[in-house]
Amino acid sequence: MIYAIASGKGGTGKTTVTASLAALWDRPVIAVDLDVEEPNLHLFLHPELTSEESACMEIPVLDAARCTLCGECAAFCQFKALSVMGKTLLLFPEMCHGCGGCLALCPEKALSPGGRELGQIVSGHFRTDHSSSGRAQDAGFLMGRLRVGEAMSPPLMRQVKARLPQTPGTDILIDSPPGVSCPAVNAVMDADVIVLVTEPTPFGLHDFRLAVEAFRPLGKPMGAVVNRAGIGDMGVQDFCRAQGIPVWAEIPFNRAVAEAYSRGEVVARAVPELHAVLLALMARMQGAAATSISTANPAEVRHA
Ligand code: SF4
Ligand code: SF4
Repeated sequence: MIYAIASGKGGTGKTTVTASLAALWDRPVIAVDLDVEEPNLHLFLHPELTSEESACMEIPVLDAARCTLCGECAAFCQFKALSVMGKTLLLFPEMCHGCGGCLALCPEKALSPGGRELGQIVSGHFRTDHSSSGRAQDAGFLMGRLRVGEAMSPPLMRQVKARLPQTPGTDILIDSPPGVSCPAVNAVMDADVIVLVTEPTPFGLHDFRLAVEAFRPLGKPMGAVVNRAGIGDMGVQDFCRAQGIPVWAEIPFNRAVAEAYSRGEVVARAVPELHAVLLALMARMQGAAATSISTANPAEVRHA
């Protein structure tokens, strides 16, 4: 099952929650950092990194000697990455989405495939605290890291997701980018369950509403985590009640959490009071996934 941990805005504690869940997860698991603009899950899980590779996107390269300036490629490109200006075909590589359409349609074969580096894909492994047998187990780790100056994260995110092994019985925990724009939707769209982390403030509620609005049409089971509960008001809980969104966890504000965070520690390990809260969150997420399978396709339950 795939679980996406998301948030309508940054700074809610999404990565803190993801790291704790990954450390406590009681089944085979891979933790994936898809917050490729600012990946920081590794700072808490401290995985042993075993490989790093460059991720590239195919973009066109022009052979000006062949180009007749017919303009067909520029007319086709929906992203305005090509433009005929006087006697020159201009190419704006940073605007290219790599669809390959212009290469296929150029009648003069004046465009050939080239590459633009998107960033790196890093993989490794870490130790969780528990398994069904009660022993620590080895878990997978995967992370995308966008190149500084690169504007488009979804192509890199897709390449990270394409490297996920299709191992039956292995769960995937995704640390999603904050917000509700393209990268955030890209991160949650393949998930079986979405966890929305927020905080009990007017700002938290505002962006939580946006996230519910953006992700609800995907039709996936969704639950809320109210982080730093007690510092603000009950607006998020009231909104969840009105919208029929279950609150799967309320993580009380605790100075020890901030201290553990600043030391790069998994808070569920460092703050014993939170251990039970996060284990209960894990159980609710797994319960939502099981319910969604049985509702969607009873045959799948037999194989879950
Ligand atoms: S379609 Fe080919 S020939 Fe026409 S403008 Fe584009 S690159 Fe040049
Ligand atoms: S590959 Fe697609 S997005 Fe890129 S320049 Fe060609 S048509 Fe435009």
